Formats: sequence, C-alpha cells, structure tokens
Amino acid sequence: MSDTFVTDPDVVLIGAGIMSATLGVFLREFEPSLRIELFETLEGPGQESSEAWNNAGTGHAANCELNYTPELPDGHVDISKALQVNVEFDLSRQFWSFLVKKGAIPDPRSFIHPVPHMSFIRGAKNVDFLRKRFAMMSAHHCYHGMEYSEDRQKIADWAPLVMEGRSAEEPVAATRIVTGTDVDYGSLTRQLIAHLEALPGFSAHYLNRVTGISRAEGGRWRVEVKDKSSRETRAVTAKFVFIGAGGGALPLLEKSGIPEGKGYGGFPVSGIWLRCDEPSVNARHHAKVYSKAAVGSPPMSVPHLDTRVIDGKHSLLFGPYAGFSTRFLKHGSLMDLFESLEPSNITPLLSAARDNLGLTEYLIGQVLQSSGHRFGTLQDIYPSADPDDWKLQVAGQRVQIIKPDAEHGGLLEFGTELVAAADRSLVALLGASPGASTAAFIGVSVLEKCFAPQLVGAWGRKLREIIPSYGVSLIDDADFTRRIRADTAAVLKIENI
Ligand SMILES: Cc1cc2nc3c(=O)[nH]c(=O)nc-3n(C[C@H](O)[C@H](O)[C@H](O)COP(=O)(O)OP(=O)(O)OC[C@H]3O[C@@H](n4cnc5c(N)ncnc54)[C@H](O)[C@@H]3O)c2cc1C
Repeated sequence: MSDTFVTDPDVVLIGAGIMSATLGVFLREFEPSLRIELFETLEGPGQESSEAWNNAGTGHAANCELNYTPELPDGHVDISKALQVNVEFDLSRQFWSFLVKKGAIPDPRSFIHPVPHMSFIRGAKNVDFLRKRFAMMSAHHCYHGMEYSEDRQKIADWAPLVMEGRSAEEPVAATRIVTGTDVDYGSLTRQLIAHLEALPGFSAHYLNRVTGISRAEGGRWRVEVKDKSSRETRAVTAKFVFIGAGGGALPLLEKSGIPEGKGYGGFPVSGIWLRCDEPSVNARHHAKVYSKAAVGSPPMSVPHLDTRVIDGKHSLLFGPYAGFSTRFLKHGSLMDLFESLEPSNITPLLSAARDNLGLTEYLIGQVLQSSGHRFGTLQDIYPSADPDDWKLQVAGQRVQIIKPDAEHGGLLEFGTELVAAADRSLVALLGASPGASTAAFIGVSVLEKCFAPQLVGAWGRKLREIIPSYGVSLIDDADFTRRIRADTAAVLKIENI
C-alpha cells in the first residue's frame, strides 16, 4: 500500500467492499493507465457487509427466495423479478470466471462452492403455491434442472435435518436446484483488491475515512479524508467518484450536495444469525434452505438454514433475525440515522414510517423476542435442533432506501439504486438487495450510467471479452444461457446441469 496520496487521481473509490472492488477491476481492465485511489475507514478490505459472516453468502440467483415470486390476486405466480435476478447472477459468474482464467483469482474454491438451493414450505396453501411456482419456473430454460417434491423421503434425502422429528401430519413441499452456490464475498473482495493493489496507479488507503465531498474547480470533486491513525486531514481531487460506502453511502451522498440526492433517506435494519460449527450436524446438511417470511416482515428477513464454507471450514447459519439499530454500518455510530436527517428527507422518512407500521411492529417484535422464541423459529425448519450446538453471530447492517415520492411523500424500497450527478462524474450506490451477488451487474450499471460514450468503443469490446453475454438477453436466449453456464461452471468448479 502506498502512503503518498496522489493529488489528482482520475478516480476515487470510497469503501473497500465488493462493490468498489468490482468497479475498480472493470475500470482498470478498460483503461490500465487510470490512476485510482481507494479510501476505507476500516483497517482492511471486505470487513463490513461484504465480510463472510456479515451476510448469508448466498449466490442469489433467485432460485429459492420466495419473495421474488409473488402470487398475484388471480392465483398466477409472477416469476419476472426472479428471472431478472437469476440472469444478473450470470454476469457475476462471467466476471469471476474471467478473473480466474486470467490468474487474478488463483483458486475459485477460495470464494465459491456448490451448495444446492432449496425452497421448503409447510401447510396445504403453501404447498399449492410452491407447486404453481415450480410449474412456472421449471418451464423456463433459466431454471433448467429445478426439482420439486412433496415426498417426505425425497425431501429428507435432500435435507435430512429439515425432516427429522417433523410431524407426519404436516403437508410439506420443496424445490431444489443443485447449481446453487455459497459465496465468501469477504474473501472475494480481498482478492480483487489485492489484484488491484499489485497494479501500478492503484493505491488503497485504510483507516482513512472520507469526511467531505465537494465540487472543485474544473468540475472535479474534492474528497476530504481523515487519517484515523495520524488524525491528519488531507484532500484529493478526482474526475470521477464512486461512493461505494455501503451503509455509509447516504451521508456521503448528502455531503456531495448534488440535487439528484435530495430527499433520500435511510432505514437501517440490523441482523443476527444463529451459527453452528458442530461437525456432526454440519456433515448432515448441504443446502441453502429458504422458507417463507413471517407476515409483515421485510423481504430480506426470510428465514433460511444455510451451509456456509468460510476459510475452508463448514458451518451452518440460520436467520436472519432482523432488528432495529440507528447505526448505518456494523462498525458505525448510533448517531448515523440522526445525522442523516436533512430538511429534504424528513417528509419522505415520516411518510415511509407512516406507511410501514407493520414493518416497525415486526422489527420491534424481533428485538424483544426471547432466545427461546428465537430458537423456536429455527426449530420450525430444523425440528430437532439442539440449543447447545448454536451460538449467536451478529450480521451486517442493511440500510434500506427511502425515496422521495410525489404521491406518498416517501417510499421504502428494498432494492439498490444508483444516484448520479447530472454530469455523471459522481455516483452513489444506495440499498443492499439482492446484494453482493449482483456486484458485476451493478458495476456494469455504473459504467452504462457514467461512461456510456466510452462503452461504444474499446471499453465495450473489452466488456464483451469479460462478460460474453453483455448485450444478449439470457432470459430470451436459451442456447447462449446453456453455453455461458456450462463455461462458467467449469471455471468456477460449480455444478452444471
Ligand atoms: C444480514 C445480511 C445478509 C445478506 N445476505 C446476502 C446474501 O446472502 N447474498 C448477497 O449477495 N448479499 C447479501 N447481503 C448484501 C451484501 O452483503 C451487500 O450488498 C454487499 O456486501 C454490499 O457491498 P458494498 O461494497 O456496497 O458494502 P460494504 O461491504 O459494506 O463496503 C462498504 C465499505 O465502505 C466503508 N465506508 C463507509 N463509510 C466510509 C467513509 N466515510 N469513508 C471510507 N470508507 C467508508 C465501510 O467501512 C465498508 O468497508 C446481505 C447483507 C446483510 C446485512
């Protein structure tokens, strides 16, 4: 790591999470002469939301997450959102494969593992829903290979812990797709940034907190940075700034003062997992089993029982149990929410609070629940779970976006959004879902939003080398999808069917 700040880098990346790391790699592939400075408030890369235990590590391809396939009032199951998330993950698979082939990531097993994705539901009405969902999904080439069963023995073969000790009276059903993955986004982030740090013209500065962003002369951005060790404050000016600060992005967007950022607010949701490192239990579960969210809960708090592979060790994770904290980052301050309040976002925040009382009640209920009640939720999925095998693990924070809205005053959103300056010289990434899995899609979206002219020429050609499906709709092109999946599965050493 270099300690000398370049005074006028081309690009400043704020935050050393998966999003800045991914965008940084794209930019360096397109323009090897670009000078890029990265500032990170923590002591190393990938330590906030992207760290392995701070998220669930699901390679979200919308295989098993039931919230992406709502049942419409006419009984029809809408899979359009699932398809979109499904093919966004293909962009990440291609991006990672490119880096493995190039040698920038020496071993895919250092961050990605094949883990089947399952949806598991209980009750006759839910069984009916899952059957219809399966019929829709399995008819599409993107979900080729998905299996469905109401047979208790079959489900027990797929996920023994889920069926052991379960009442024989209860109707159950499950889907499974063996091409699912578990991803250690922390390891991936560290490898991407190590790759960048080995290149000339890139430097990362840890324990360096960005404290101010303002317009400088000539349209550049002045980024003020406080060194947490020396307590010195310095400034750099850049042509392009990416605010990839995760939960810390909203306050920095506000500091930039761009009119496009006015009115945005943030609603933090904290998370807790139950974690099991007991080898005899781990040896009997190899899947990510997603169930149905409780009524009133936010979509990302769907309970799931997951195989995790972190630093070569197998563990089980269950949760998340959502909660409310005023911090925007796990390593943030309790003042984060209050400091984000501005005259322009008070109305959107109050309106979103008024329109989402169910969510507030749900979060309060989650915070107040006893450990016995919490364990009961695990036993809904794994009936014979033993409390002695499980411990609490604090997850990362998610800051949901509150958007200004002419009709409602403000809307609570569960996705991600890029908010860019009119001249495209600064862009902030708000929100956290589907998350790290779609980092390549988000990187490409930043490029399309902010570097559209460059993409027409050489950058576009390079982008198609990195992501061969760029410009092709994988939702429509079955042959291309099959080819891309076979290629990336072989490189990433994951299942292909
Ligand atoms: C409970 C939970 C479960 C999740 N499960 C999944 C999942 O299964 N699959 C999935 O794909 N995604 C999941 N996600 C989402 C995923 O973790 C995030 O989308 C992703 O890690 C965000 O990456 P990032 O780079 O934007 O943010 P981060 O990894 O948080 O990185 C941002 C960085 O910016 C730094 N920073 C902040 N402010 C400043 C500042 N002022 N100056 C300098 N640096 C700053 C932070 O310290 C941090 O290191 C989950 C998230 C949570 C919380």
